[in-house]
Amino acid sequence: MFRRRLLWRLFAINAAAFAVFLGVASAWLLSDPRQGGTGSIVAALVGMAVLGLIASFFAALTVYRPIERVRRAAEDLAKGDLNARVDTIGPDEVGDLAEAFNTMSRQLRTRMAELEGRRREVATIMENISEGLLLLNPAGEVALVNRAAQKLLGRRAADLVGKPLWQNLHLPEVHEMIAELPKIDEPARVRIELAAAGEARVAEMVVTPLFEISDGEKRAVLLIIDVTEDRRLDQMRRDFVADVSHELKTPLTSIKAYAETLLDGADQDEGARRPFLEKIVSNSNRLTKLVADILDISRLETGRKDDSRERSDLNALVRRVVGEFSERAAKKGVTLAFEPAAAAPEAYVNSEDMREAVENLIDNAINYTAEKGTVRVALKVADGRITVEVADTGIGIPADALPRVFERFYRVDRARSRAMGGTGLGLSIVKHVALRHGGNVEAASEVGKGSTFRILLPAA
Ligand code: ADP
Repeated sequence: MFRRRLLWRLFAINAAAFAVFLGVASAWLLSDPRQGGTGSIVAALVGMAVLGLIASFFAALTVYRPIERVRRAAEDLAKGDLNARVDTIGPDEVGDLAEAFNTMSRQLRTRMAELEGRRREVATIMENISEGLLLLNPAGEVALVNRAAQKLLGRRAADLVGKPLWQNLHLPEVHEMIAELPKIDEPARVRIELAAAGEARVAEMVVTPLFEISDGEKRAVLLIIDVTEDRRLDQMRRDFVADVSHELKTPLTSIKAYAETLLDGADQDEGARRPFLEKIVSNSNRLTKLVADILDISRLETGRKDDSRERSDLNALVRRVVGEFSERAAKKGVTLAFEPAAAAPEAYVNSEDMREAVENLIDNAINYTAEKGTVRVALKVADGRITVEVADTGIGIPADALPRVFERFYRVDRARSRAMGGTGLGLSIVKHVALRHGGNVEAASEVGKGSTFRILLPAA
């Protein structure tokens, strides 16, 4: 009650004005002998004084109340209640003040909503980008850390925020970069191995200084880019070049050796000439097949995706491929069966690539199946997916080798594959073709019982 100083001040002003009026009135009344007895005058004056005080109080209250309402609303706003507003007050200056306050509060609400929207946008981007992101304050402590960074560093935000990075992580190269921050203007980067994410990952750590603090202190952003996949691809490319060189070298060396032997006089020997020439031809064929497969792989890997695809009936396409192999299967004493799909299996395919993929599967199945064995080629359509299945009753593939058979140049038995003219690239081509068509491949096998390969494709 006594905190309402304005009310008491207004009351005091009213009361003082009334007291002056009462003083003048009582002086006048008491000095006029015509006015009755002094007792009744005093009683009347006391009565007036009491009524006057009450009136003064209520008069003060009517001025005070609306101002108090505005004050309270302002206090609520200051405390953070953005919905604070003053209900309509009469059309006077206090009413105008209340209206101005309501407008201000409304604008503040809109601005805050905009700011919050923007903050949320930034937070959503920060949380969802695949790169790890940390904001470091001028003291090198972590101010913010996103989800990807927590995952890559194997630490939770609670462990990192508010502390220098070195306290939680042993990354000497990164700490060195952070220590150098006051001296650098350009982003600094270093490539390191992170073991924290469960599996070993390679990350590029980029520290970028942020200039926005007037006193010259720098905050910084630490970006963690997972480059494991890039490095794996680099390694694969290097391996591929090494493998290709190695694979090309073997037949080339043979050709050279046989040719040189012939030049050295073996061409005069009737018995040796023919087998030597045959070796040269078979190695040349092998080279040709290798180069053709390598070109296929590189075309499938680097070529444009929207290559000439058309809606095709896979029943017809696969039937034709099976037809091409019937003679070879019959010669080897292997039964080659074809089971088309009941419903027309239509898909958007590059017929040439698809034919090559199916050829590779059937070629392998016949190659790795002994006499009296069976190779069954079947098509199925289910749930918008087409399956091209090639199952054989051949030698099978050991369980530890099965996950690797789609790798380039991988062969379970190198000598055997080579003897059959294999390049180790057939299944790799099959997988590339399937992936390029939005599909995939599967393999199941049991040693001594047979293997089943499947190409899964989305139906048109
Ligand atoms: P290759 O030219 O050697 O046949 P592929 O990439 O076609 O190369 O196959 C890789 C390896 O997978 C083969 O060397 C072979 O060991 C194994 N393989 C593929 N298909 C079969 C199959 N139907 N039965 C048994 N092994 C197979």
